Amino acid sequence: MDLGLEGKTALVCAASRGLGAGCAQALAAAGVDLVLNARGADGLERLAQALRDAHGIRVTTVAGDVTDAAARAVLIDAAAGVDILVTNAGGPPPGVWSDWDRDDFIAALDANMLTPIALMTALLPGMIDRGWGRVVNITSGSVKAPIAQLGLSNSARAGLTGYVAGTARQVAPHGVTINNLLPGIHATDRADALDGTVAQAQGITLQQARDQRAATIPARRYGTAEEFGAMCAFLCSTHAGFIVGQNILLDGGAINATL
Ligand code: NAD
Repeated sequence: MDLGLEGKTALVCAASRGLGAGCAQALAAAGVDLVLNARGADGLERLAQALRDAHGIRVTTVAGDVTDAAARAVLIDAAAGVDILVTNAGGPPPGVWSDWDRDDFIAALDANMLTPIALMTALLPGMIDRGWGRVVNITSGSVKAPIAQLGLSNSARAGLTGYVAGTARQVAPHGVTINNLLPGIHATDRADALDGTVAQAQGITLQQARDQRAATIPARRYGTAEEFGAMCAFLCSTHAGFIVGQNILLDGGAINATL
């Protein structure tokens, strides 16, 4: 399917590995020029060069912590005029409800709610002026069904979801869509970190922790960054202009719900 994105430009945040990289790869394959961000310059430049070589697109890299206001200002400057914004940042650490104090919540809100909101605030006006734009926020299945040990994620991402629900309907008249992608478990470093915690707590290997978790998923496997990226690229495509303010779960059926 031609996604109709040839020649468009996108900012993809937290993109050197994992789900962000999957989104960058799928957009690059659709002919989108990219501004890519991640904390480490080396991994970012490696991915950028691979995408330039494979797809003949232009890729600008901006290394820095997207949750840091100064680094984000540099990124927003480099991304001025983009048609597509994919927001992403690392997820908060696991724990239990009694672990977290105000500072922990402020950090989680900063990373997983206020950072994507700041990026949208900066880049939506240009999209509205040009009469076309796409925003995809990478959130989490924890928005639909809480994950007990990820209370910081449950809380911060719920806030972002509420913001998107209202804002998406305000920008839609201008040809701009905002939607959220909700990953269930995907085979990335983040999944390894979460499974590592389980392995340590239960005295089992990392592979045993993965197998144990996969057995609870109707699809009996983890998602891949490639299939996640393909859904992101579709949401950014010209075919998806009627999809507004939605929360799309990619979890292999793990959350047992009718809707
Ligand atoms: P990952 O750890 O595999 O990759 C993280 C990427 O983000 C890396 O490129 C890293 O450099 C970059 N990054 C992290 N924090 C950053 C920051 N502050 N500024 C700039 N770059 C930053 O993570 P992932 O699995 O791809 O997850 C992406 C998001 O999706 C996270 O918020 C995660 O919590 C969420 N999520 C992931 C899963 C999963 O199973 N992988 C499930 C639910 C939610």
